[in-house]
Amino acid sequence: MLRSLFVFLVMFSAARPASAQDAAAVTYRVSFEGAAHHSLEVEATFPGVDAAVPLRVRMSRSSPGRYSTHEFAKNLFFLEAFDGTGRRLSVTRPEPDEWAVSGHDGTVRVVYRMFGDHADGTYLGVDTTHAHLNMPATFLWAVGLDLRPIRVNFVPPAGSNWKAATQLFASSTPFEFTAPNLQYFMDSPTELSNFLISTFQVDDRAGKSATFRVVVHGQGSQADVDALAAMARRIVAEQAEIFGEFPVLEPGHYTFLLDLAAWGDSDAMEHRNSTSIALPGLSIQTPDGRRLALSNIAHEFFHVWNVERIRPADLEPFVFTRANVSCCLWFAEGFTDYYEGVSLARAGLADQAPVSSVANVANRSGRLVRSLVQMSEQAPFVDRAVSDDMMDSSRSYVSYYEYGHAIALALDLSLRSRSAGRRSLDDFMRRLWQEYGRSVGPRPGYVGRPYTLADLRATLVEVSGDRRFADEFFDRYIEGRDWPDFAALLSPAGYVLQSMAPGRGWIGDVPVASVDGGLAVGRGRGGRTLVPFGTPLYEAGIDLDDVITHIDGPPATQAAWSGMSQRKPGDPVTLTVRRRDGQIVSTKATLVADPRILVVPVEAAGVAPTPAQRAFRESWLH
Ligand SMILES: [Zn+2]
Repeated sequence: MLRSLFVFLVMFSAARPASAQDAAAVTYRVSFEGAAHHSLEVEATFPGVDAAVPLRVRMSRSSPGRYSTHEFAKNLFFLEAFDGTGRRLSVTRPEPDEWAVSGHDGTVRVVYRMFGDHADGTYLGVDTTHAHLNMPATFLWAVGLDLRPIRVNFVPPAGSNWKAATQLFASSTPFEFTAPNLQYFMDSPTELSNFLISTFQVDDRAGKSATFRVVVHGQGSQADVDALAAMARRIVAEQAEIFGEFPVLEPGHYTFLLDLAAWGDSDAMEHRNSTSIALPGLSIQTPDGRRLALSNIAHEFFHVWNVERIRPADLEPFVFTRANVSCCLWFAEGFTDYYEGVSLARAGLADQAPVSSVANVANRSGRLVRSLVQMSEQAPFVDRAVSDDMMDSSRSYVSYYEYGHAIALALDLSLRSRSAGRRSLDDFMRRLWQEYGRSVGPRPGYVGRPYTLADLRATLVEVSGDRRFADEFFDRYIEGRDWPDFAALLSPAGYVLQSMAPGRGWIGDVPVASVDGGLAVGRGRGGRTLVPFGTPLYEAGIDLDDVITHIDGPPATQAAWSGMSQRKPGDPVTLTVRRRDGQIVSTKATLVADPRILVVPVEAAGVAPTPAQRAFRESWLH
């Protein structure tokens, strides 16, 4: 009952013009005379503010779905402020991303220009072909006015054939849109260009119909976009099966914004009722191009439930003035990554089971020093974060996407095996949707009942019906640093773990480069690589920039280095090493069995799957 009331309210407010909604709406006018120079001009008007105090306006430092800071104020120039009568006002700069406007009459109009030539999921890209707008990279906002409605007018360059596509609420004119508040506005990327669009509808299990729009700026014909949309439709339908229903899409539709301009920057970002997918130069006319586009579509659309509405409490609401840290990106991103593969397979658009994450993560030494939750907490420093000094990510970090993907697989396989196929990860996701995601938010664009890490654990207790299992799974694999027994978990599905180098000795996976007098450790492969934790080389006290001068007596050569893989686990190796300062030391390492693995179907090992394994695969991926 509450839910239908919410639908009614949203539809009611969407149907009214913004001007009637609230006289104090913040308005933006965006024009593109400088498009050839990659800039735009914004006129922002903040009416009805307290004339007794300066108005603080600021640029965001972060953008929804991106967890590091990006300092969008750096590209702003030519800022001027005026009051309601057009009188110029004085402006100070108390913070790098904040301006204070004083002496106004209760209305402040700020005019500024913004440079941007980076069309991706986070930044701004403007040229004569398009304006690819991410709102935090484009719009100043006023402190304290977060709940004001917003009206934006785009003024395309004279003579252009641009149209506008966005999850913002449409109005009676094609270039005017509204948002109910700042959170929703900032979450609404907008593409202005001569794009192609294809629209389709899907009914969920409850018979409720939802509308989807596939917008493509790039090469290809209307028939190509229609063909892509038909495939996207199958993915959308499969994902709706998992959750049982579509969420309420507040503007009345969901929009896939695909920007394929060759001069853009690769990225894909989820939003509440849309996604911004930038794949520079991608052709949707080739099978490979379509496959990549559909992978992105499958991943980003799953977010319409997982993260946009089933949302961690530490991201709600998103904070634009700092980096955002979360306990749970392993779930928000990693589980979404897993379901990208699952839903592509179920839609008949992929023939591989989503198991490759196991091999990719198994041998990463980061697992030894950080839990899955702690990997998620690293996001502000690794999610396209920028800094000058070297990080030790290569050995102490594992992507919460891939690591979370592997743990999602482990949980899915566990639930299926424990219940003889009656329960799966789909039940866990659906339960989270019912309990958290579906809750009515306090206002449009806000989440009603965000979850905590403890809520995820409690939901697993409920879905598995076994507190001990759920606690052990969370304690060991999510909050702890244990690694699941994938050989046992994958066996019922007819997959096996194979050693990449059976019976071979191994000293550690690190490049070495030939230099004067020996082999420089961690050099080569185009960068500097630290020696991973837990490897014989690390245990021997050797690391980046040490030069191995001798191996077991003779001078160190690439042939002697790679020859170690011909030796047996347990073999001792004596290494002579020259440190950075020239000091010579001698150290011993003991080779271990090469731990690197592959996950393959039993067929690849020359064995036919059993009927039980076939049935398992059928209920898992079909
Ligand atoms: Zn994602």
